[in-house]
Amino acid sequence: MDEDLKLFNELVQVLLEEEQSQPVAKPIETELLYDKLDLSLPDTPTSADDFKAELIEIIKYTPKTASSSFFNQLYGGRLDKATLGDLLAVMLNTSMYTYKIGGPQIGIEKIILKKICEIVGYGPNSDGTFAPGGSMSNFMAMVMARDKYDKYAPRKGVTSKMIIYTSEVSHYSINKNAALMGIGRDQVREVKTNNHGEMLAEDLELKIQKDLEEGYHPFFVNCTAGTTVMGAFDDVSLIHKVSSKYNLWLHLDGAYCGSVIFSETYKHLVNGVELTDSFSVNAHKMLGTPLSCSIIVTQNSEDLHISFSNEAEYLYQTDGDEYNLGKTSLQCGRRNDALKFWTLWKSIGSQGLERIVNKQFLLADVARSYINNHPDYTLFSFDNSISVCFNYKSTPAKELCTALYKEAQLMVSYGVFKEHEFIRLVTINSVLDETDIINFFKVLETFVKNHKFNLK
Ligand SMILES: *Cc1c(COP(=O)(O)O)cnc(C)c1O
Repeated sequence: MDEDLKLFNELVQVLLEEEQSQPVAKPIETELLYDKLDLSLPDTPTSADDFKAELIEIIKYTPKTASSSFFNQLYGGRLDKATLGDLLAVMLNTSMYTYKIGGPQIGIEKIILKKICEIVGYGPNSDGTFAPGGSMSNFMAMVMARDKYDKYAPRKGVTSKMIIYTSEVSHYSINKNAALMGIGRDQVREVKTNNHGEMLAEDLELKIQKDLEEGYHPFFVNCTAGTTVMGAFDDVSLIHKVSSKYNLWLHLDGAYCGSVIFSETYKHLVNGVELTDSFSVNAHKMLGTPLSCSIIVTQNSEDLHISFSNEAEYLYQTDGDEYNLGKTSLQCGRRNDALKFWTLWKSIGSQGLERIVNKQFLLADVARSYINNHPDYTLFSFDNSISVCFNYKSTPAKELCTALYKEAQLMVSYGVFKEHEFIRLVTINSVLDETDIINFFKVLETFVKNHKFNLK
């Protein structure tokens, strides 16, 4: 192992240097990938030198998600203590299904869940689990809601037209999960939004009433804290008025921006979260832990057991179910995603998490005021969003983003909302500071000046 740890450190040094010298890795055209890099799997062993050399090449050409030029995704950066925790989790290689195998790691997962339940204001019967990602957290919420609505569903399957409500700009996992669950995509109603991208309670109610009249079975409403393109927050208290009137399960998908619960300044954006039946949040997005770290909590721990526990004598051989987390999780063998969040939280405290969240909003303010102060820009997004959507002159957003990537200048993506296509600058990357935001605009402006785009 010593030799490999030494090699690991050398490779990490290469990565850290590359992040500085070549913050956007030069992309390899897919047709050339296997020519450019030796990814082949040989019959005979590879020499130590070739092995190392090949890994270095692969590192160089792998996109750099922790560089100051990465604005592309709803995650980015590297927080040392969280990375340390994940590296340790790999070395410990426990699986999180039983106390016998997980030991104190189980306690670590449980204490994070308990603390999050407290912070969102859930009652004493609440509990949660770590899911393989935000999509799967939403899946778990939908399964619990299905089984609560129809207690025979786990045995008999879905036997009626059960209806899901979510906004037209919510994450695609809601539709996909409906298909996976046997509910069917046709049973997902896309509720209209206002011009900020927030779900309209009136349209929700209209759709529910229409479905009831037609003999369908409404059971689940999904709200979003931070929509994927615009970063909008649905008004949870308002939506709850409707969902509770019709006795529907209310889930808050906080994969992107649910972490505002850690900030005194921004937690008002999820006012009413304590009224929801379930809430999910990705620590690998706003809180900067390595991928993936996704949490779902629910008001009533019973619902987790009803939907996800299964007897298995070959697995559960000791201790009470309370410490055998396989009884409330989606998977059987399960990665330890808790430790990296715990090492981060332990080292910087809740106040540190709050600072991380606040900084992202501050950087978004910096970006918006730059745009507002430069007449060549058009702003499409609103305050209280860490997705800053804009266009520069009349440069087509998609073409510009692709050219910036191909020429290794900036990693940034584009989005569409209400018929406008625009660049989406995300300020979530933990390595960014104000100068990186200003630099982003300077690089973009120089780039446009030196290129010919098909101006609209
Ligand atoms: C990212 C995201 C998801 C999906 O999370 P994964 O961890 O990528 O599966 C779900 N909902 C919203 C709003 C998101 O932004």
